[in-house]
Amino acid sequence: MKLVWNNNRFEVQFTDFQNDLDAVKTAGFRTSGPPEWIWFAPAPGIKALDRLRKIQSNLQITELALQHYKSLTQKFEQKQNLRKQFKQAQKQAKKTEPASIKDMYFDEELQFWCAIVKPPTEIEFIPYVRPPYPEEKCLLCDAPLWPPFEDGRSFCMYCEKQNENNP
Ligand SMILES: [Zn+2]
Repeated sequence: MKLVWNNNRFEVQFTDFQNDLDAVKTAGFRTSGPPEWIWFAPAPGIKALDRLRKIQSNLQITELALQHYKSLTQKFEQKQNLRKQFKQAQKQAKKTEPASIKDMYFDEELQFWCAIVKPPTEIEFIPYVRPPYPEEKCLLCDAPLWPPFEDGRSFCMYCEKQNENNP
């Protein structure tokens, strides 16, 4: 079996059809289906490839595919390392008592540091100032007309309704 890098993925070319087919199936490769029936390693590809390497001892690999395999493996390992570092940092952060923030407590259930929120000690009082009456007035009852003004509106809602009922 030959492994090539094609269409931005690892594809296999069979040399011993039945054995190779069994091997790629076991390794978790997928096929493009008809009409070409190309078998390829699902992205990012290295996991299926690692499985295939264990099953298939006489796997041939092209230079290009090997380069991609190496760089992908490297990226994967870097990612794993970052994940490990992040988890360690997370663990450390949980244990470390925050020094800069006052009034904190550790919630055992949630495993988080929480800030205590107290009601304010001083109450700010903003007195209500009634807005001035509008200058526009109802033509019938002299009641002030508040905006928004409809076009040419000159009666209050009450008088308008009265007008509709008794034309
Ligand atoms: Zn009115």
